[in-house]
Amino acid sequence: MTSKHFDPPPPEGGLYCNRTLNMRSIRAIGYDMDYTLVHYRIDEWERAAYQHLKEKLLALGWPVETLEFDPALVIRGLIIDLEHGNIVKANRFGYVKRAYHGTERIPFEEQRRLYGRTLVDLAEDRWVFLNTLFSLSETCMYSQLVDLLDKGAIEGTIGYRDLYRIVRASIDEAHLEGDLKAKVIEDPERFVQLDAEGPRALLDQKAAGKKLLLITNSEWEYAEAMMTYAYDRFLPGGMTWRELFDLVIVAARKPDFFFQQGPVFRITDDAGLLRPAPTGILDDGIYLGGNARMVEERLGLSGDEILYVGDHMYTDVHVTKDVLRWRTALILFELEAELQHMRAFQTQQQQLGTLMQDKTALEFDSYQLRLTLQRTRAAGEKPRDVERRLADVRAQIAALDEQIAPLASESGRLSNDRWGLLMRAGNDKSYLARQVERWADIYTSRVSNFLNHTPFIYLRAPRGTLPHDMIPTLAPEEDGD
Ligand code: IMP
Ligand code: MG
Repeated sequence: MTSKHFDPPPPEGGLYCNRTLNMRSIRAIGYDMDYTLVHYRIDEWERAAYQHLKEKLLALGWPVETLEFDPALVIRGLIIDLEHGNIVKANRFGYVKRAYHGTERIPFEEQRRLYGRTLVDLAEDRWVFLNTLFSLSETCMYSQLVDLLDKGAIEGTIGYRDLYRIVRASIDEAHLEGDLKAKVIEDPERFVQLDAEGPRALLDQKAAGKKLLLITNSEWEYAEAMMTYAYDRFLPGGMTWRELFDLVIVAARKPDFFFQQGPVFRITDDAGLLRPAPTGILDDGIYLGGNARMVEERLGLSGDEILYVGDHMYTDVHVTKDVLRWRTALILFELEAELQHMRAFQTQQQQLGTLMQDKTALEFDSYQLRLTLQRTRAAGEKPRDVERRLADVRAQIAALDEQIAPLASESGRLSNDRWGLLMRAGNDKSYLARQVERWADIYTSRVSNFLNHTPFIYLRAPRGTLPHDMIPTLAPEEDGD
């Protein structure tokens, strides 16, 4: 008897695997909260953060009254070059493939002059990687301020580095002071995108015997408000979000949480009253601070039995993997829309591949003809027929290029007109894609995608492609990329 096959989830609901992961051998799953368990409307949340930032800059006397947040100006995974006031997209090796100075695209020749010999290396303090959606508001402002600085509209002799330092300090304050968060707590409907399937996925995981943990950098008051709003309504029989989790840790101070020995406090009531817990995490409950080793001890588990799910490339995924070797899942919310754009462009993408194959074949002919020409001339003979054939092949290539150029350009602008897809840089993988494959065992657009895949799934990494594979995947570099 053959069993019926269930339909697999659509690509937008996929769990994408870099390193094989058997969910059955995962005994505990730790979740980040902001932009992981709780999804914000980027336009609203980052606009509010931008507004707070703007007020702080206005207080410094900066001429930012007319500036507006533009959610499409930058994307996650870009890199700020503090030396030049540029925003760049690099490929997996760190070569800069596209660059803007402030909000203006840098022409290709200038880009080559600036970056021809430079590799992005995040160990240098010249570069700032956009790790999370929280980076969008500050980087949008930074780009716009670079324009103003160049026009001489900002007083004082500050450079691009100082400019960033001031923006960073101001957005940091905006996050830490109560006003921005109070606004979100007051009107969660405006800021939070509900997803009924997230709580359902967690319920399945819990029922399958996995310990669930919440480990967030947010403060107790804010975390409690967000989780109550986004989770309680979808839980059965009056259950609250707190009953979902075996352990809750707020104000975790990630990434330090993963490699330092920070002290832990117990939160003893709803108002967030604290009691020191000098002996560590000894029971289930709600804690503030602490560190990952305490969590491992409490659970009695080793790194490869714990999966941590978060949206911040560095603090949630890179450090967790690097220091503790926990299994890691990255939430890339933007992937959902990107997959839709990719699907809509599939026919053209295939067409592009075919055109490139044709072009490669014609180019090969042209090389052969050139060589024949060279040899014929060297022998002192008249190469008239070869010349004619070569001219003909070149004309065919030029005609193909006319078809290829608009398709390649469109492919490079998919999803975001300025920057294209998150994980692509020209025809190669982007710097972000490299980080993802290095540090995230799996990645997906939202936590609720775990639902359809069940807590029992065995996720296998694909075979991966190599340049010498028999089935080539040809596509052109975009113009200038
Ligand atoms: P998590 O993603 O659940 O760990 O929480 C992220 C927390 O960090 C949220 O409370 C954010 O408001 C906060 N946050 C994000 N960016 C910054 C920053 O630049 N400075 C300070 N706090 C931040
Ligand atoms: Mg987060």
